[in-house]
Amino acid sequence: MSKPRVAIFDFACCEGCQLQIVNLEEEILDLIGAVDVVEWREAMSEQSTEYDIALVEGSITRPEDEERVKVIRQRAKVLVALGACATIGGVNKLKNHFDLDEVKQCVYGEAASMPHLATAMTKAVDEVVPVDFKIHGCPIDRTEFTYVIRCLLLGKTPVIPDYPVCVECKAKGNICRWEYGEVCIGPIIRAGCGARCPSSNFRCFGCRGLIDNPNLDAARDVMDRYGLTVEDLKQKMELFCSKQGPTL
Ligand code: SF4
Ligand code: SF4
Ligand code: SF4
Repeated sequence: MSKPRVAIFDFACCEGCQLQIVNLEEEILDLIGAVDVVEWREAMSEQSTEYDIALVEGSITRPEDEERVKVIRQRAKVLVALGACATIGGVNKLKNHFDLDEVKQCVYGEAASMPHLATAMTKAVDEVVPVDFKIHGCPIDRTEFTYVIRCLLLGKTPVIPDYPVCVECKAKGNICRWEYGEVCIGPIIRAGCGARCPSSNFRCFGCRGLIDNPNLDAARDVMDRYGLTVEDLKQKMELFCSKQGPTL
C-alpha cells in the first residue's frame, strides 16, 4: 500500500511550528517512515504538485497568498492548519487594527509602494478555504501534532478539546492568576496545552483561540466580581483573539 503523500507549506509566520516538527527528534523518524514527505521547504529542496495531506502554517496576509492557498486546497485531500497563525490568524492579525498603508509605511519605509510588497487584511486559513483539522497553539504542541497526524494516518478523527484552559489549570492545582490581580483569559480559551502558561506563573494569552461556545455570561460575571470591565478583558485578548469569535 502506498504511503500518504504529505506536503508542508508556510505563509506569513515565524516558522516556529515547523520547528516544533523538526524538534520531534526520534519520533519524526517514525512519522517520516509512515508517510511520503513530498514538499517541505524548511527541510528539503524537492517540490510536488501531488499530495494527499497538506499541512499549512502561517496566516494569509497578501492577495497572492489567497490564490496560493486555494491551489493547495484543490490539490490536497486533507488540509490541516498548523499553529495559531493558520488557525486564528495569530499575532499577524494585530495588523488589522491599523490602516494598511500606515502599516506598510512603518515596515518598509520608502519601499512601501513597490508592487511586490502588497499587503491585505490578515486572515486565518479557514477564512479563505475550508480546513479539515486545526492544530492549535503558538507554537503547536508536539504531542498534539503527532496525535493528530497518527489519527489521520489511521483514518480516525482527532479529538481536540473544546473546553477551557481552566479545566487543565485546575487539574494541575495551580493558584488562579486572578488571585494575583491578573486578568487571565483561560476561561474562554481552548484547552489542550496543559495550561502551559498559568503553570509557569503567566496568565493565558489565548494562543489556542476561543472555544466554540465560550460562556460569555460567566466571563462578564467574573469581570464584575473583580471590579473590571469587558474592555479590560478585550485588551487581554488583543494578542491572539481580538479579531476572532463572538463579540463580548
Ligand atoms: S503560531 Fe506562533 S510559533 Fe507558529 S508560526 Fe505562528 S508565530 Fe510562529
Ligand atoms: S489561572 Fe487562568 S486558566 Fe488558570 S484557572 Fe485561573 S483563569 Fe483559568
Ligand atoms: S495557557 Fe493560553 S497562551 Fe498559554 S499555551 Fe495555553 S492557550 Fe496558549
